[in-house]
Amino acid sequence: MSNQPLLEVRNISKGFDGTGVLDGVSLTIREGEVLVIVGPSGCGKSTLLRCINGLEQIDSGEILLRGETISGKKKNLVSVRQRVGMVFQSYDLFPHLDVMGNLLLGPTKALKRPKAEVEQEALIALRRVGLEEKAHALPRTLSGGQKQRVALVRALLMKPEMLLLDEITAALDPEMVREVLNVVLDLARDGMTMAIVTHEMRFAEAVADRVIFLENGKIIEEGPPAEFFHHPKTQRARQFLDTFVYETAKNGEQG
Ligand code: ADP
Ligand code: MG
Repeated sequence: MSNQPLLEVRNISKGFDGTGVLDGVSLTIREGEVLVIVGPSGCGKSTLLRCINGLEQIDSGEILLRGETISGKKKNLVSVRQRVGMVFQSYDLFPHLDVMGNLLLGPTKALKRPKAEVEQEALIALRRVGLEEKAHALPRTLSGGQKQRVALVRALLMKPEMLLLDEITAALDPEMVREVLNVVLDLARDGMTMAIVTHEMRFAEAVADRVIFLENGKIIEEGPPAEFFHHPKTQRARQFLDTFVYETAKNGEQG
């Protein structure tokens, strides 16, 4: 295997209407690695993920996928979004299509793959996330946790080289968070390369190979999860993690 990172973000900056949001962010993600990005609301986490898969254009810097520049090239966007899958907080499934219809759309239209073949893969993937019996259900009949698992399957069926997950459990009722995060843990064990933005700190610690703490569009701290969560180097990271003390105490009580 080559030593080249799968994804390389080099000194990118991005602003909206003259207001800086990302300010010289650099990071790399190696094949099979899980990078967790944490930081206060508004620090630029979503913008960073959106720049990586071309939903936003960067102002300066460069983004490379397997050594190939993918930023600043509009004609590459379709291929970049296939190679770098993304799942958001809102599931945005098409309401008039059943689960299978939603899953078939990308692979058959964008990748022009045969329907029967994708259908087989989709059923296997649905079984894996515990939703095989929902193949012909309409999105509105599913719970939030079920919809988000469908959204993950939909992203995976595009056979991306890596996945970006932007607070995918933030809109879910607490009892549904775990079923979605378990799917993500399963993907990580399978070697899926991921960049994950989350406020679920225990999950973050369990899934991460490396953690980045972002504030005001800059990386303030970076390190292995055991170090970042238990011995943060910066005062800013300590303060940020202190805001999760209540959550930890609460979870601790439940064992
Ligand atoms: P986070 O995901 O860390 O909460 P975001 O990346 O969503 O932060 O936003 C960072 C900052 O950029 C915020 O101040 C937000 O208001 C601003 N921002 C994000 N997207 C846009 C946009 N499309 N137009 C203008 N401002 C934006
Ligand atoms: Mg966000």
